[in-house]
Amino acid sequence: MRFLFSVLFSFLLIQCAGEQQIAATTSSSFGIVIHGGAGTILKENMTPETEKAYRKTLAAAIEVGHAILKAGGTSQQAVEKTIHVMENSPLFNAGKGAVLNANGFASLDASFMNGETLDAGAIAGVSHIKNPISAAIGVMDQSPHVMLSGKGADQFAMELGLDTVPNAYFITERRKNALKRVQDREQNKFAFYDPFIKDSKFGTVGCVALDKNGNLAAGTSTGGMTNKKWDRIGDAPIIGAGTYANNASCGVSATGWGEFFIRSVVAHDIAALVEYKGLDIATASKQVIQKVEDLGGDGGVIVLDTKGNVAMEFNTAGMYRAHMDAEGNLSVKIYKGE
Ligand code: ASP
Repeated sequence: MRFLFSVLFSFLLIQCAGEQQIAATTSSSFGIVIHGGAGTILKENMTPETEKAYRKTLAAAIEVGHAILKAGGTSQQAVEKTIHVMENSPLFNAGKGAVLNANGFASLDASFMNGETLDAGAIAGVSHIKNPISAAIGVMDQSPHVMLSGKGADQFAMELGLDTVPNAYFITERRKNALKRVQDREQNKFAFYDPFIKDSKFGTVGCVALDKNGNLAAGTSTGGMTNKKWDRIGDAPIIGAGTYANNASCGVSATGWGEFFIRSVVAHDIAALVEYKGLDIATASKQVIQKVEDLGGDGGVIVLDTKGNVAMEFNTAGMYRAHMDAEGNLSVKIYKGE
């Protein structure tokens, strides 16, 4: 009996040690995670060259942020500079390469939140700011407000001395063709219920970073939805819907069908489940994405906590995503099940 007891006891000890080891390997003193949009991203619709270009740009973007964190920079700096790489790439629906509204123009939204101070900034419906994420940070750091929109936000960015460009800078052939396809199909259907049109918003970008001081930051930048009308604004610039960061819980950036992400207050809902219910970030993200799905929406989130744990949850066929931990281990993924 005593023998049996000691065998059982040693077994339990080994189990506990094993679990601790697992916890230790998933924790990281700093880390960074990004997304480049979620949607019907299928291998059969992708050429090897396009897939390679996405993977390369995701890696290049995350490496910029990782180098900043490694050198002791803040999570705010890492998020801003990482998002710049994706905003400057025509591949993503943010900055250059943003999707076009019904009038054929790019109209951009972005938001940022600091998890240490809970300071936040956002801009919506801007037409000339080259890197919208920097304007969102500018609103946070250099104005008494949280959210600016339209011409006023463009004006604010100019006054700050941020780079501004003609709207044509953002417009690419690919997005012009997408707008034409959506408008052609719209002739005979109600836009949001056409799966093709519903899928016309991929490529929003986002980043969550944890720096060596244990501070989280999150940012999101997008052109919104192809053929959007009436100055439609999605979830990306809404603090609590598309972006949220709080050192007490986690940092979140979302992508997907914005209307549902606003109604589900996705980013804050995940953080609230972690803070108030003690859920881990993976369970909390699954629960909230399920809520979006139950309402009829789709998309995904990237989440990072102060231990460096990462969750990348989505209910679409794919989500452009990448993660890099303190040791520099890089993972870049596109499809579900990868
Ligand atoms: N969430 C963005 C919006 O609705 C689009 C996207 O993430 O693809 O504006």
